[in-house]
Order: sequence, then C-alpha cells, then structure tokens
Amino acid sequence: MSSKNIVVIPGDGIGAEITTAALSVAQAAADKCHISFTYETKQAGGAAIDAYGVPLPEDTITACRRADGVLLGAVGGPKWDNVAPELRAEKAILGLRKELGLYANLRPIKVFPALAGQSPLKPEIVSSVDILIVRELNGGIYYGARQEATVINGVEQACDNEIYSRPEVERIVRLACRAAIGRKGKLMSVDKANVLATSRLWRKVAAEVVQDFEQVQLNHMYVDNCAMQLVLNPGSFDVIVTSNLFGDILSDEAAVLSGSIGLLPSASLGDGTGLYEPIHGSAPDIAGQGLANPLGTILSAAMLFRYSLSSEQAAAMIDQAVEQVLNDGYRTADIYQPGFTKVSTEEMGRQVIARLR
Ligand code: NAD
Repeated sequence: MSSKNIVVIPGDGIGAEITTAALSVAQAAADKCHISFTYETKQAGGAAIDAYGVPLPEDTITACRRADGVLLGAVGGPKWDNVAPELRAEKAILGLRKELGLYANLRPIKVFPALAGQSPLKPEIVSSVDILIVRELNGGIYYGARQEATVINGVEQACDNEIYSRPEVERIVRLACRAAIGRKGKLMSVDKANVLATSRLWRKVAAEVVQDFEQVQLNHMYVDNCAMQLVLNPGSFDVIVTSNLFGDILSDEAAVLSGSIGLLPSASLGDGTGLYEPIHGSAPDIAGQGLANPLGTILSAAMLFRYSLSSEQAAAMIDQAVEQVLNDGYRTADIYQPGFTKVSTEEMGRQVIARLR
C-alpha cells in the first residue's frame, strides 16, 4: 500500500467545518480502496495573518510543494478586509496558484437529478447537465501588460493586454483532451476568433493538439454564443476549454445551473501538486453554526483522488455517495425544502460516509 500525503488548509469562516467533513469522507473512501494517506493541517488566509502576520506563510508553501495534493476550505472575511492590499487573505489563493504553477482550473458543473427543481432554469433543461469547464489560469489578459487610467490628449484611457503563447495553449488543450477521454470525448473550445488575434492562435493550436487524441471530437464556439447556449441548451456540453477571462465568466454563469454555490467543487492543476477547493468563499454569515453545505468540498476531495492520487475508484465512490445522499432526501439549510430531511454540515458528512460502497 503506497502512502500519500495531503495538506489540508481549512482557512477561515466555514473552512474548518467543511474541510473536517470532507477529510472524514476522504479517509473513509481511502480505507475502502486500500489507499493509505497521512495529512497535515496548515494555515493560510486570515488565520495565517493572525498567527504569522502574512496570508501565505513559507511553511505552508513548502508543505504544499511536497504534498501529493492540497485540500482547501476558503479564505477571507470581514475581519481582514481593511489590511494592506498585499496582506489581504485572498492573496493566499493567488500565491498558491503561482507557487504551485497551477495553470488549469477544472470546474465540473453537474445538476443532480434530485436537485433539478432548485435550478433557476426549468428542470427539463438542466436535468442532464454534466459539464467540465477547463479554464486557463496562468495567462491571458489577467497577466498581460496593463496601463492604468491616464489622460492622453485630454482623454482618460486605460489598457489591458491579452497575450497567449503556443505552449500555453498547447498544455491547457492537451489537459482538456485527457479529461474529455474519461468522459464523453466531446471538447468545445471557446474563443472570439472572429475578432481577437489571441483567439485565432488559440483555435489553430487547439485544432493541431487534438490530432494527437483520436477519441476526442473537437468543436469551436464563439464565447457570446457559448454564454447563450449554457442557458438555452446546457445539456449539449461535455468539456469546455477556454481562456482565463472567458473561463472566469462562463464558469460562474454555469455554476448557477446547479442551484447552490455550496455544491460545486474545483481543481487547479499544474505540473506539480494540485489544489482542490469548493468554488464558494468563506461564508462568514453562516460560519460556526453547522449550516454550511460540505458537498462542494467533499466533491473536491473526490477530484483530489481522481487527479492527484490516481484513484478513480475512490473518486467515483465519493461522487456516487453524494448523489445517493441527495436522492435519499438529506439537505443542508441552503438546499432544504419542506418534506426533506434537514441536516447539519457534520451530519451531511456522516450520511455520505454511510453510502460509500
Ligand atoms: P461566499 O461564497 O463566501 O458567500 C456567498 C453566499 O453563499 C453567502 O450567503 C453564503 O452564506 C453562501 N454560501 C457560500 N458557501 C456556502 C456553503 N458551503 N453552504 C451554504 N451556503 C454557502 O462569498 P462572499 O460572501 O462574497 O465572500 C465571503 C468571503 O470569502 C470574502 O472574504 C471573500 O473575499 C472570500 N472568498 C474566498 C474565496 C476562496 O477562498 N477561494 C472565494 C470567494 C470569496
């Protein structure tokens, strides 16, 4: 039995509650699949500012670099809103992305049949939704040269540059192709190639990369059409691969299809340690009350097994147990409706464990 090492970063707000629940599910799934893992808890965000005076201590970075995977709750909260900009709790996430070289953000958007009625869209439109959005995380307009607002010839102007290189596009499309192979094999590359030069390079490189993946069927779509299709016909998508800016916007649009922000996991991957976290923040308004939905974090732990511990068996076991818990009528406060069984954060974790098989 090979032993794996996980770093757990609870962070702030509901972070401790949701990572505790996810870790106990991960431990139980690992036991069933004969995977041995140890974990160590490290601090980041507001908790690290309080303890060490910085949002991302060196000790946390070193432990993450050495680990097989990192499970993070969420960071930030009103207590740290007024610290100096370079000390803000959210710097911990950006710092981890940079230190771990994370260039791909994977966000699965699945609408559980039991929760189709919670979506803002009609159940018949969302019931078959199972999308994986692969967003480039390390380049594009968020990292290009910027000119803050300046008055030129009496007119105030600002400028942001979008730059993509061939290797940056190749590596993200390759990763998306590998992800598509484990699914339906349908890859949609989203760009704005009718206007942007970076998108024309993106489209050309995507078409070349996909030649190496016989099982993957590539199509291209303009981002404006994709934004529309995600609402009109979201069930038609399998894997979407797109740039940093387009992915940021489209993944938030797609996230609302599921009905609660508390349900959605994410993975950030690079060439080293992967980082796994729910898509929501630290929810200070409900922290410490057992109201937080831990399923997004539990599903993030499943992604950790899938992408960092090479255990599809444990990942699928957790995914299925979560679906079963919802089918059996268990609901945390955010997704509760009369007639269902209302449970706390901790109890939801226990119910998932009871269905691991
Ligand atoms: P948020 O996601 O924390 O909360 C938005 C709303 O969703 C709140 O009403 C909250 O109660 C609810 N919610 C969030 N997660 C939930 C869960 N698991 N179960 C049930 N309800 C849940 O966003 P916000 O309020 O804008 O931000 C709060 C803090 O989190 C801020 O400091 C923000 O900067 C930080 N933040 C951190 C991350 C991160 O760590 N990756 C991401 C986003 C925001």
